Amino acid sequence: MCGFVGIVDSASVAAPIAMGLQAVQHRGQDSCGIFTYAGERFPGRRGLGLVKDVFTSEMLEPLEGNAGIGHVRYPTIGRGSLADAQPFFERRPGVLMAHNGNVTNFDVLRNRLSERSVYLLSKCDIEPVLCTFAEELMARRRRNHTLEDVTAALRDTLNIVEGAFTLVMVLEVDGEPTLVCVRDPHGIRPGVWGRKGDARIAASESVALDALGFELEGDLAPGEAMFLRAGQEPIRKQLDARSSSPCVFEAIYFSRPDSVEGGQTVYQRRLSLGARLAREWKDKGFEADRVIPVPDTSRPAAIAFGEELGIPCREGFIKNRYSGRTFIMGSQESRQSALRLKLNPIRAEFEGQRVVVIDDSIVRGNTIQRLLDLVWAQKPKEVHFAIHSPPVLHPCFYGIDMSTPEELAAPQYIGELPPTGGMSIEAQRAMEQAWAKDLGIDSLTFLSVQGLDEAFPGSRCAACFEGRYPLPIPEDQRSVIAQDRVCNRPGA
Ligand code: SF4
Repeated sequence: MCGFVGIVDSASVAAPIAMGLQAVQHRGQDSCGIFTYAGERFPGRRGLGLVKDVFTSEMLEPLEGNAGIGHVRYPTIGRGSLADAQPFFERRPGVLMAHNGNVTNFDVLRNRLSERSVYLLSKCDIEPVLCTFAEELMARRRRNHTLEDVTAALRDTLNIVEGAFTLVMVLEVDGEPTLVCVRDPHGIRPGVWGRKGDARIAASESVALDALGFELEGDLAPGEAMFLRAGQEPIRKQLDARSSSPCVFEAIYFSRPDSVEGGQTVYQRRLSLGARLAREWKDKGFEADRVIPVPDTSRPAAIAFGEELGIPCREGFIKNRYSGRTFIMGSQESRQSALRLKLNPIRAEFEGQRVVVIDDSIVRGNTIQRLLDLVWAQKPKEVHFAIHSPPVLHPCFYGIDMSTPEELAAPQYIGELPPTGGMSIEAQRAMEQAWAKDLGIDSLTFLSVQGLDEAFPGSRCAACFEGRYPLPIPEDQRSVIAQDRVCNRPGA
């Protein structure tokens, strides 16, 4: 998963892009980059790590220009190396590109390009898209590209490229520096735009606009290309559109709660997930003295869960904002201390109490056992776990890092995957019982798919919960993606 910010203005854009990127830093911490357009030059810098560390004033100084894009990356295809860091630049015809999401047929694109003697510098899935678009554009006209040229080249590129992504680009169109943002035909990955004076912005989350004082104008439509120029109204072109299927996992876990998606804050979404989860938990006949969120994502859901049932919601864990990653630590003991460094419990909130711990999701199940060891050490009377999403039964090929079925914990507690559409309530409750027994807790409750439907009415992607993929991925592409993750996932 990644984040991007693109700005076009009558003033220099590198510094505001760096600020905007810090607002979407939660979407990727492995690498970051900013490239700008300055007349006939495209200066850029990329680095490993956080935006605040990479983009010092010395790094930003050479990045002159009134149009540019920035990117933060957590790889879901390719590595977290500098070679795979975005944005990418193509000399002919002079275009910058970055994306958020997954290009699912990246190997097909790579082979197609190599048959034409076009070779790539990285394993990042956006590079073959950039090369494909550049070929399409150059085939239309060698220079002085028009809006019609770019629109036609984008349309042809989208006919070849498959996946769930929002692209952001900068190039000269009709002789003017132009920021172009394109959302995939199903609108699986998010993309918003806004304005401030002459400046126009496109970003993966609205919090980047808030941080820079831009007015949010709205979301890009699925399959839409938006052309933004300083001081002008946007030009919107519909390239392709299929059923709108925004990813529900964005609101469950990934996006910041203060972001606005589809006209609603993620915070509001999480409140409704928590309220619905509370009703389902109560129907099981349990009672509790405390609701405790696992910070930070599940806080709004925990507040709503407590309000719904009249149970006080308390901070039982304090998160250390400065602790590092834990996956590089070898032994079980050191991983446990790393978790404790990251998340320290407040004993008084647990001791002698019946607690319901609220979390956003369980994907691989690695953390929950360690978390439970911490909880039991605080001597609670009863421990219930409630999760504000349904069990993850299917992999995601659309840019969330859970692309292989073997890594998922929930399928291990059911005999056979249910037919498309998710589990029946009865089957889910039986699975929860078996899993809770294994974990040694009083109960485990996931939100049902029916509960998810209530919080996300209408068309959306919830394929990882119910197996209905808006964009079918052929078996051979699934294997290529799985193989890529085995080889390239951080820590692999
Ligand atoms: S499969 Fe799940 S994580 Fe992937 S895009 Fe769909 S809802 Fe989001």
